[in-house]
Amino acid sequence: MRENKRDIITLREFDKEEILYILHSALKISQESEPLLKSHIISTLFFEPSTRTRTSFQTAALRLGASVNGFDSSSGISVQKGENFSDTIRMMEYYSDCLVIRSPHDGAAKLASTLSSKPVINAGDGVNQHPSQTLLDLYTILEEKQTLENLEIACVGDLKNGRTVHSLIEALKHFSPKLYFIAPESLQIPQKYLEKLDNLKISYELHSEFESTLENYDVLYMTRVQKERFDSEVEYEKVAHSFQLTKENIVGKCKSDMMILHPLPRIEEIARDLDDTPHAFYFKQAGNGIPIRKAMLALVLGKYSKLEAKNSDVVEINTDFKCHNARCISNVKTEYVAHRAIIKSGNKQCFFCEK
Ligand SMILES: [Zn+2]
Repeated sequence: MRENKRDIITLREFDKEEILYILHSALKISQESEPLLKSHIISTLFFEPSTRTRTSFQTAALRLGASVNGFDSSSGISVQKGENFSDTIRMMEYYSDCLVIRSPHDGAAKLASTLSSKPVINAGDGVNQHPSQTLLDLYTILEEKQTLENLEIACVGDLKNGRTVHSLIEALKHFSPKLYFIAPESLQIPQKYLEKLDNLKISYELHSEFESTLENYDVLYMTRVQKERFDSEVEYEKVAHSFQLTKENIVGKCKSDMMILHPLPRIEEIARDLDDTPHAFYFKQAGNGIPIRKAMLALVLGKYSKLEAKNSDVVEINTDFKCHNARCISNVKTEYVAHRAIIKSGNKQCFFCEK
């Protein structure tokens, strides 16, 4: 990070007021017709393909009057040849006013933020963070419920591997929710998240089916159960079937204003017969990627009002450290990145991937 710029790398560095500020900015910007970013160039640098996220950022930039450049690894030959990430970032900052970065490596966006004098937005780094997805999830709930406080929220499906659910829980901790984790035992939410909730005195329940608590939910956040997580097809079929939402098992059995969210794409976990019911918010949710990404771009570029550059709560930087996360950008040999640790709340963690 250079001074006097604000990046959006992880929501962990935003407090409650700042998260609400971004969400309320998005509400206002969604009605804004001014080309706030006219004469700006936004670069979408996708070192791994993600058509939905890239298209959403590009649409947001174009709607604000900006021009867009960049690449997607599926078409970018130089990236496929293994062009050095750091060199690409150092070069692209001269072609751009803001870098939107997606990488298969944890910590890549953080590394980019240290190399670039232009603001960096993380559009997904490995299995680490994807702040725009979490913000648009919160935005969709806020827009409909007019509040994020004291809601009863169920997360259903693969809660072990689902990055979107983990990030959502971390953001919801500010809003006194009651949480329900509904998953087969082998895919239940990792213990470390439950410990965090215990420390914050946030109440939660664990279940292996949703029927018994369905009538309590204000929001049901569905995730995809991926076939490759199971040892056998039979095991998968058993679980996939018992975690399918259908008109028959939802409508009339939940609150009349219960929202169903899903990060998409879905396979069979939400039956098509639910799409035309008042509970279906997943397409609206995907569309809300536009106002949220408009707000993120406008805010980091100081064109709406500015997110303040922030001193992080780093107490000490420790260079006598080796990151053990094999997916971390600092472990990619061709990047020549010096390992670094920060000490946060007494714990030593990798500066880049925070593992
Ligand atoms: Zn690391």
